[in-house]
Amino acid sequence: MDICTFIDSLNCLADLHLHLDGSVSVASARRLAAIEKVSLPDDDSVLKSMLMVPEDCSNLNEYLERFSLPVSLMQSKESLCTAAYDLCTALADQGLMYAEIRFAPQKHCEKGLTQKEAVMAVLEGIRRSGFRAGLILCCMRDGSDNCAENLETVRLSYEFQNRGVCACDLAGAEALFPNENYIYVFKEAKRLGVKLTVHSGEALGAESVRVALENGADRIGHGVRSAEDENVVRLLKEKDIPLEICPTSNINTCVVQNVSELPVRKFMEQGIRVTINTDNMSVSSTDIKNELKKTVKAFGFGVPELKTLLVNSVAASFADDTLKEKCLKKIEDDLNKYL
Ligand SMILES: [Zn+2]
Repeated sequence: MDICTFIDSLNCLADLHLHLDGSVSVASARRLAAIEKVSLPDDDSVLKSMLMVPEDCSNLNEYLERFSLPVSLMQSKESLCTAAYDLCTALADQGLMYAEIRFAPQKHCEKGLTQKEAVMAVLEGIRRSGFRAGLILCCMRDGSDNCAENLETVRLSYEFQNRGVCACDLAGAEALFPNENYIYVFKEAKRLGVKLTVHSGEALGAESVRVALENGADRIGHGVRSAEDENVVRLLKEKDIPLEICPTSNINTCVVQNVSELPVRKFMEQGIRVTINTDNMSVSSTDIKNELKKTVKAFGFGVPELKTLLVNSVAASFADDTLKEKCLKKIEDDLNKYL
């Protein structure tokens, strides 16, 4: 069987880097718009283009502009709960057994919700779907004076640590607002014992990853530009920090032009734990099977490398050991079906 056909048949997949607001489908956007009383264009293709990155997107900042519509559609408990439910249902249909969904609660307080209410609404949507997902709460680097909001996000990650939230994140325009400006986020997460993943080494180079690693990041979102400095690659290996690589997203934001330019094979050969993820299913018009197929094709991978990628995703997840064991067994069973 062709490996891409095989990937299409799998039900043992996981996605560790997936933004709720970047993964709102056209159908879900219509449901959310009805709740929020926002009018949308009648034509689905027009709406799809509003949720998707333009072909000529030139950088991460332009990519991030695509989030304003979906964020505006999720400003109430009901819409947040519905968005999370819709996403989880879609993930289950796509063959995922587990996902870590992330969102920035502070972006959903425009109509009076508190961050805590936003978190509880998303957790409720996940719960109702029956799909197994951990929630990651994003602190934002967006140039606003949001230190208090970011600290509140880290503290909510702690408060809901054993109730559906598995980690916190630092997201937003890395090149404009580097990690150095957000050391307080790292410190607070460490103080509270909250797991931390940090968007780094995407719009900025290896130095950004080094700062994240030296300040205690447990995982790195993207991290592909770590390859620019061998010392940073060595640090990733020494600390055994997994990378959440999102191939199509990196093309959209012009980090690379082709998937084959990503240091996926190089990192794997160097013993770095690489995971493959979608980042934003709607903005990048993709899903996890598409990302895996692009990756195996670009690097000529066979089933052994595919298995490594799938196992890495489970091992690098913030899930508990019982769930990890269950997921690893499912990978083993599913991959044994390859003839
Ligand atoms: Zn991301």
